[in-house]
Amino acid sequence: MKLEDVKVIGVVGAGVMGHGIAQVAAKAGYEVVLVDISEEVLKKALELIESGPFGLKRLVEKGKMSEEDAKACMARIKTSTSLDSLKDADFIIEAVTENADLKKKIFSQLDKICKPEAIIASNTSGIMISDLATAVDRKDRFIGMHWFNPAPVMKLIEVVRGALTSDETFDLTVELSRKFGKIPIEAGDGPGFFTTRFINSWLVEAVRLFEMGIGGIREIDEMCRLAFGFPMGPFELMDLIGLDTALHIAEYLYEETKEKHYAPPNTLKKLVLSGYIGDKKLKPGSRGGWYDFYGIKK
Ligand code: NAD
Repeated sequence: MKLEDVKVIGVVGAGVMGHGIAQVAAKAGYEVVLVDISEEVLKKALELIESGPFGLKRLVEKGKMSEEDAKACMARIKTSTSLDSLKDADFIIEAVTENADLKKKIFSQLDKICKPEAIIASNTSGIMISDLATAVDRKDRFIGMHWFNPAPVMKLIEVVRGALTSDETFDLTVELSRKFGKIPIEAGDGPGFFTTRFINSWLVEAVRLFEMGIGGIREIDEMCRLAFGFPMGPFELMDLIGLDTALHIAEYLYEETKEKHYAPPNTLKKLVLSGYIGDKKLKPGSRGGWYDFYGIKK
């Protein structure tokens, strides 16, 4: 398949990442089919694409997009609760919860539903692509396409080939990433690839330093911003990406590598188990994030 053959982009999972990916694909001119098991999540996703903090309305207000283009962009996005609606999709990006068994179940269904030439990409933060590819027959047309949060804003896409990904699939994924206005960089297929291994070390270290009393949550965030020029600190970042996602990643990296410094800290587990899984506005059903749990003013 060539880039010009790609007309319809499927996105599976309409949560924090999926809705942003759908927005980027629609803005690049593609028809988008956005699938989630939850009607409520789909409704929220469309609201966020239209008028969320990184949504189209903001672009119109900033003069970066006309109102007509924003309307046309919204009209290109269809939503569905059934994977069957992806039968005509040319390129499918999976962005469901970070759970290997769930993802594999979805890939095996997609492998049967989707056109034989369609490419299936996973936005997993760190599950090995060669492992996820075991769920499909089309291993040559299966690839890792790791986006960053917020998807409409962050420029990098980490492109990860599984052991059997074809050159054609890799090249098309790179070209499509550029068409989306992103900068694709290849990373090797190992647990966490490059970016997730790197960021996990930083996040869990911040939680451990907080647990040891070396710094408070707000203070650690502020120190990272002021000392290193980071746009946000580690606790703010976890609130944004989801504490549940951060926990999954730490558990997975620790399980795969047995390296102690990747292991999930207790406090992170405690918050996730208590329903504090991140920013309430971005994560439906969440009771809040670090700042809410500890009652800290930003
Ligand atoms: P999320 O929890 O916000 O969204 C996941 C969505 O998947 C939910 O809306 C859920 O209803 C849906 N879902 C679950 N089972 C489904 C099924 N069977 N069919 C269709 N939809 C289903 O999670 P997220 O933060 O968007 O993460 C999604 C993926 O992206 C994960 O693999 C994560 O590791 C990865 N990722 C996350 C970030 C981040 O910052 N949050 C960044 C890069 C990559």
